[in-house]
Amino acid sequence: MKNLSYTVIPSTDPMGHAIASYHRTGKAGRLQVFSPVLEDDEIPVPWLFRTFEQMPALEQRALNMARGRVLDVGAGAGCHSLTLQQRGLDVTAIDLSPLAVATMRERGVKQALQHDFFNFQGRFDTILMLMNGIGIVGTLNRLPAFFRHIDELLAPQGQVLCDSSDIAYLFEDEAGKPFLPDDSSYYGEMQFQMKCDEVTGAPFNWLYIDPDTLQRAAHENGFSATIVGQGDHFDYLASITRLSQAP
Ligand code: SAH
Repeated sequence: MKNLSYTVIPSTDPMGHAIASYHRTGKAGRLQVFSPVLEDDEIPVPWLFRTFEQMPALEQRALNMARGRVLDVGAGAGCHSLTLQQRGLDVTAIDLSPLAVATMRERGVKQALQHDFFNFQGRFDTILMLMNGIGIVGTLNRLPAFFRHIDELLAPQGQVLCDSSDIAYLFEDEAGKPFLPDDSSYYGEMQFQMKCDEVTGAPFNWLYIDPDTLQRAAHENGFSATIVGQGDHFDYLASITRLSQAP
């Protein structure tokens, strides 16, 4: 029996619980997302299993740009890792969630590791952070640590491909007038909590960053962020490379 890991469902891993249930049974409970600021939301679990054809154009673009040794950060059910692996790339997938990692292994991701990105070591030509992947940075003040860490992980000429959204539109009234938070926090700093069936996770910080702020932060930390493409809802794909290798 391969899937021993399913016998223990950590009570704090709603994402992994949803992914493992869907993989095992073709069904999953609602993966609910709560936030103190935004309306309650839901992640459609089958979406985490999307094929290349089902992916948004920006994700397809990111996969087409991936080269060399690839690190898929917060890889979830492994949809991006599997596509790149099928194309013959050397992919390592990491995720905090033990059940996500167990599922990725069963789905055929050859190198799937349960690991926190922020203390993961290795050398990669491409670091993929998709589905608002740069969100794991959490808050703006963690960006310098993020850039220091990608400097350790990136091979010479390496690239980070990440997506995010400018969520300023969420803080506008019907006339388009902004009502941004009046404290000094950045409007893209969100807190979320997830729940699926009886499994509730701990609250966590999640960063949505607008392209100008990302580009400025990259520059201040020795990197250059190029906006590779824009989606249809304030979302974008960025390629981050060391300033010293800028064209
Ligand atoms: N990239 C996948 C999944 C996105 S969901 C996709 O596009 O379908 C985000 C994933 O990031 C979750 O599975 C979560 O467990 C993982 N994650 C969050 N913080 C992380 C961290 N610090 N290190 C590694 N993985 C993390």
